[in-house]
Amino acid sequence: MKSLTIDQWLYQHGLLLCAFRWNELPSSISDITHNTLPVQIAQTISDNTILVLLANAGPKFWRSLQLSQLKNNPEPIDDFSVLIANEFQSTYLGNEDFTQLYPTPAKRSHVPLMRLGGLAGWNIPSPLGLGLHPEYGPWSAYRVAWLTQSDQLPNDYFVKPSQFKHIGFNALQDAAELCVGCAAPCTTACPASAVQIGHNFNIDACHEHREPLTSECHVHCAARRACPIGKDHQYADEQLAHHMGMRWRTV
Ligand code: SF4
Ligand code: SF4
Repeated sequence: MKSLTIDQWLYQHGLLLCAFRWNELPSSISDITHNTLPVQIAQTISDNTILVLLANAGPKFWRSLQLSQLKNNPEPIDDFSVLIANEFQSTYLGNEDFTQLYPTPAKRSHVPLMRLGGLAGWNIPSPLGLGLHPEYGPWSAYRVAWLTQSDQLPNDYFVKPSQFKHIGFNALQDAAELCVGCAAPCTTACPASAVQIGHNFNIDACHEHREPLTSECHVHCAARRACPIGKDHQYADEQLAHHMGMRWRTV
């Protein structure tokens, strides 16, 4: 039942949502996606297909999860994300026509999420190795992507080709437009010198530094915390520790 508007519902859960008409996506995205989809899903795509992208932004989503019984699941964030994406589909898009592209059980995505985020302007490269959202900085993440044939999503939620921001995805600092003029506290906060202006994020240096249980970076990132963009939307320590601890739970 729609007791809330879409914006109210998104705000309540700490979410961002946008959508793309499949036949308006750049071929660099639609071709990759189409070619990696299981055949039975690829065959369902038509001119009416839309791709919906849901991201969390700021700490509210984690708080919502803590109120859910799913919080004790082995994959609480994925499970909760899919649950509320399905709730969105049935409540606001009028049916349960939901073909999930991300997350997948294999922890892969059938769609290039960062490229989609780039189109929407949610993913501006930074030396942190994370895309920055203009408002939420490094405190936002893609949660669910799905295909549907619903025609009930209001036009305002679609990213139209004339609004596409970054059609390619450049991980290099030369595309880091949000960092221009910043004193770069992220670089001095990183004890491993993994974050450097003008260079791609040094993931090996970061991981090497993080690995010891005694490392201050094991489940914390001072460089991310130092970024002034989205400072008011930082995750609580518990949420950051959960995300960063995932690396150690999967190796
Ligand atoms: S986790 Fe530590 S080493 Fe890695 S980027 Fe953050 S501050 Fe640097
Ligand atoms: S601290 Fe400044 S330079 Fe570093 S990622 Fe944030 S905006 Fe960019």
